Amino acid sequence: MFRADLHCHSTCSDGSDDPVVLVKLAKSIGLGGLSITDHDSIEAYHTALPYAAEIGLPMISGIEFSADWFGESVHILGYCFNVHHQEIAAFCVEHQQRRHIRNEGILEKLKGAKMPLTLEEVVATTTQELTTIGRPHIAQAMVAKGYVPTIQEAFRRYIGEGKPCYMSGPVVSVEHTIDLLHRADALAILAHPQLIKNKKVLEHMFTLPFDGLEAYYARFPQSESELWVSMAKKHDWIITGGSDYHGTIKPSIELGCSFVDETIFRDLQKLYLKNSAVA
Ligand code: AMP
Ligand code: ZN
Ligand code: FE
Ligand code: FE
Repeated sequence: MFRADLHCHSTCSDGSDDPVVLVKLAKSIGLGGLSITDHDSIEAYHTALPYAAEIGLPMISGIEFSADWFGESVHILGYCFNVHHQEIAAFCVEHQQRRHIRNEGILEKLKGAKMPLTLEEVVATTTQELTTIGRPHIAQAMVAKGYVPTIQEAFRRYIGEGKPCYMSGPVVSVEHTIDLLHRADALAILAHPQLIKNKKVLEHMFTLPFDGLEAYYARFPQSESELWVSMAKKHDWIITGGSDYHGTIKPSIELGCSFVDETIFRDLQKLYLKNSAVA
C-alpha cells in the first residue's frame, strides 16, 4: 500500500535523525513519498533533496511554522514551495531571531529557578549544526544537567506552555503566516487540529484562508481522523497527514505511522514540481 509521510523533523530542527538518515529510513520502510517539515527551517533540503533523487524517493518541500492567535499557539504546515524562494528564506531568518529572544528568556527563567543553563550548553547536547533551536533541545540539556529525569518532565514542570519557566517571546500571527505562504505559491495547512483543545480557536481557524487540514496525524486512530476528513471536505480544503516523527526526541512515534495515499501525494507533487520549475 502506498504511504507518504508529510510531517517529520530532522536535526535541522528538533528531530534526532540527520536529513539524509531520514530519507534513507523513509525508503527502507517502504514509503512512497516524504516531506520533511522542520520547525521554521528548510535547511534539510540542501542534503535531503539530492540524496532522495539519488535513491529514488519522491519528496515535496515542507516546513512547520509556529504561529499565534491571541496567545494561542497554532502550527502551520507549508508545502510545495520552491525551496529557493526568497520570502520563505527571509521568513525563516525572522523566526530564528524570534526564537533566539524567546530561548534567552526561557534560560533566564530557568536561572531564576536555580537551573542555570547557557545557550552553548543547549547546543552542546545536540549532535549537529542545527538551525532551529527549540524547547526540546532546552529540555534535553536540562536532562543532561540532571535537573529533570526526562524531556517530558521538563515540559510538564517547567517549560511547557503556561508553566513557570515558559515564555512565548515575540510571535507571528496565523494570518501573516498564511499570507506569506500564499505569496510563495505554497499550500498553508492547519497542522494537527487534534491538538487544538480550545474550541473557539478551532472555530476561528476554519474561517481563515487555509488550503487544507492535517487530518491524519501521529498515532490518532483512523476513526478520529474521519471527523477531520469530513471537516476538511465541508470547507473544500485538501487533506494531508503525517507522523510528526522526531526520532529519539519523541520515541513513541514511528516514521510512517500516519500518512496520505497516492492520490493526495501525486496532486501535491504536481504543484511542487510546477513551483520548482520556476527559475
Ligand atoms: P518550540 O517550537 O521551541 O516552542 O518547541 C515546541 C516543540 O516541542 C513541539 O513542536 C514539540 O515537538 C515539542 N513539545 C511540545 N510540548 C511537549 C511536551 N509536553 N513533551 C515533549 N515535547 C513537547
Ligand atoms: Zn518538534
Ligand atoms: Fe507541531
Ligand atoms: Fe511537527
